[in-house]
Amino acid sequence: MRALPVTVLAVCGLIASACGATGSGDAAAGQAATTSTEEQAPSTAPAEPSETLDPVEPVDPVKTAEPAETAEPEETQQARPLDGMVIVIDPGHNGGNYRAPKAINRQVDVLTKKKACDTTGTATNNGYSEAAFTWDVSTRMVEILERRGATVKLTRSSNDGVGPCITRRAAIGNKAGADAAISVHADGAGPANHGFHVIMPRKINGPVDEVVDDSNRLGIAVRNAFAEGTGLPYSTYIGRKALDYRNDLGGLNLSRVPKIFVECGNMRNAAEAAKFQRPKFRQKIAVALANGLQHYLKT
Ligand SMILES: [Zn+2]
Repeated sequence: MRALPVTVLAVCGLIASACGATGSGDAAAGQAATTSTEEQAPSTAPAEPSETLDPVEPVDPVKTAEPAETAEPEETQQARPLDGMVIVIDPGHNGGNYRAPKAINRQVDVLTKKKACDTTGTATNNGYSEAAFTWDVSTRMVEILERRGATVKLTRSSNDGVGPCITRRAAIGNKAGADAAISVHADGAGPANHGFHVIMPRKINGPVDEVVDDSNRLGIAVRNAFAEGTGLPYSTYIGRKALDYRNDLGGLNLSRVPKIFVECGNMRNAAEAAKFQRPKFRQKIAVALANGLQHYLKT
């Protein structure tokens, strides 16, 4: 929760117009999200009641104010749909990784191979790092999912530190007994490549095997919600319809809970890099990912 002020500051620092309107921005995002999750369509006729009510009950400011609440139907109709659910969010990389190459390059066992404990991640051409992006999106997700009733854990507590190793990131989800876990990333591919994709685990004759099917369901739910909520296209360069399956990622191989990675887009693509640097777009991503998780957990 320490993250909240940081998030708010980032919004305020980068887009002045968002400062006074954080609430309405959230409401707009929530509304879009609701539409996308096929919950009840927001009422389109809230404007009339004052006319019909006036002759009978001339003084009823509460009733005339009520239509405004349709902006958050999720809250008024089912305040905490994720009550009792445990979600682990893994913000990929860490802002301090570049300072500790020795610790970060230490080889760890991910069952199918040995690989580095972690990496620095990518960045946009103008230096906005993947670690900062994943941290911001993840902390926004924490806020959204906690508001919906979930217990949410992050695998790191700031964007100033080093690691943890990918083995530890998986272990945190396992220890929490997460109902769902997601590792948030953005890719660093060729500049002409664009679009997002979701990575799911493959069977490796290991502990992840028993959650491969659920992870696949989770991945499809998140793929659908992400496409609908962000408008970003399926990856033009990886996977099929934005779905990819891998057996070389420690964060997946070592998971005993349903888990996926999301690569939100390509930070080296100019159009996507520009979008990722807009706080409102990151909020859109966070809402979309939260909706995908919720859809998986509730169906
Ligand atoms: Zn990454």
